[in-house]
Amino acid sequence: MKETIAIIGGGPAGMEAALSLAGRGYKVYLVEKTDALGGHLARWDRLFPQQDPAQDLLNEMIGKVREADDYIEVIYGTELQYVKRRMRGLEVMLSNQTVLQVDAVLVACGFDLFRAERKEEYGYGIYENVLTSADLERKFKEKKVVCHDGRTPQKVAFVHCVGSRDEKVDHTYCSKVCCVTAVKQACEIKELYPEAEVFNLYMDLRMFDRYFEQMYHKAQSHFGVHFVRGRLSEVSETVDGKILIKTEDTLLGRPMKLTVDMLVLMVGMQACAATAELAEKLDLKVSPSDHFFETKDLFLRGNQAHAKGIFLAGACTGPKSLPDTLQDARSAAESIHRYLTD
Ligand code: SF4
Repeated sequence: MKETIAIIGGGPAGMEAALSLAGRGYKVYLVEKTDALGGHLARWDRLFPQQDPAQDLLNEMIGKVREADDYIEVIYGTELQYVKRRMRGLEVMLSNQTVLQVDAVLVACGFDLFRAERKEEYGYGIYENVLTSADLERKFKEKKVVCHDGRTPQKVAFVHCVGSRDEKVDHTYCSKVCCVTAVKQACEIKELYPEAEVFNLYMDLRMFDRYFEQMYHKAQSHFGVHFVRGRLSEVSETVDGKILIKTEDTLLGRPMKLTVDMLVLMVGMQACAATAELAEKLDLKVSPSDHFFETKDLFLRGNQAHAKGIFLAGACTGPKSLPDTLQDARSAAESIHRYLTD
């Protein structure tokens, strides 16, 4: 067997990088802090743009990791404690006291979702029928898309850019995937409840990738989803548990009031909670503007950290769609291979 690599994080990026490295004959320790692989993917129902079941992709990836058990050892329920540089390679100490001697470390710790409670004015955690996009996805997965009191939602609004492009929460960046997720979820509500009225309240629509624009057109022409350009100013609850939204249609320049059964907040991505601690342990740089890990450069060294022998993959360096995350993971594996063979 060739050299050994420790991968921190068993989400899609960690698994895909592990498979790429195992395919080249490297030994991989895949270190996952929970007791299951998959990260956020394990909590998702269907994937944009073609509504593929998330579970199918997850099962396929986990199946491949298991098949590659001669090369990939998954270590569950543990986290990185420290890394020491040795004459040759790195010594990685885990929180379960395992010590790994490795030649490179790949950080693939992913992202956290923005905590919607921080935008108190949107009523999350206060009003029962205000949900996040992740809460709604869980309802789709459980096949129970109903209001808190069990009613079928007749009117649903999606609010874009919650915790993204927002100076007040120090997240001025775009999270890239929440526009397309809102369109996907709006179409899914209409598939379930064709009579429901569905609104998307957006700042700008950023439908940047393949098939996204088609989804947006289908949402309007086939499903009749309404798109209103405007930012939410106030949310309150009516006596019958509905949600009253005050906004402004910025295209028409008119204030607008809307009462809905369900309000869905499209929460953005933020650097995962472990970022600052990992940065200290591994001598990594964190961007002062978005708080994600910084790579050596954005062009030819987009998976290299500033510290020698440490690499980065997936959404720990900034918001990414799932296809981009997987591609980035393969690219990180290639960078590690070049580092070990040059
Ligand atoms: S992808 Fe859309 S909803 Fe998400 S932050 Fe960017 S503009 Fe806002």
